[in-house]
Amino acid sequence: MGVEDYLLTSTLNSILSQRLVRTLCTHCQRAYTPVPELIDELGLERYAGREGLQLHEAVGCDQCMNTGYIGRSVIAEFLILSESIRRLILARADGTEIQRTAIAAGMDTMQTDGIKKAVRGITSVEEVMRVTQVI
Ligand SMILES: [Zn+2]
Repeated sequence: MGVEDYLLTSTLNSILSQRLVRTLCTHCQRAYTPVPELIDELGLERYAGREGLQLHEAVGCDQCMNTGYIGRSVIAEFLILSESIRRLILARADGTEIQRTAIAAGMDTMQTDGIKKAVRGITSVEEVMRVTQVI
């Protein structure tokens, strides 16, 4: 970014990143039981337990112009620049290490926030993946 590391770490307290996901149409969304592989891949049982876990998928109807979605919702990640994060930035650690440290300290990634919304039926896993996958 062209900013000295010490200026960055001494002036920033936190970084909020966010994206919008489409919210499922409540008129036509369809509940389904995710296959065990998907539960494991996304770590879904952390949020809802394994038994009775359901996700929802977009279908499409007259109410949503056959898109399966109406409206949008924010998914976000909030990185607090703790002392350990500041030290990593000053040591020029890569983003993966900074993210790993932040997650260990309790930060939800944008994808995790989205998965939680998918488990609550607000959006679909497909929509979360669409907006959080790095291209
Ligand atoms: Zn609909």
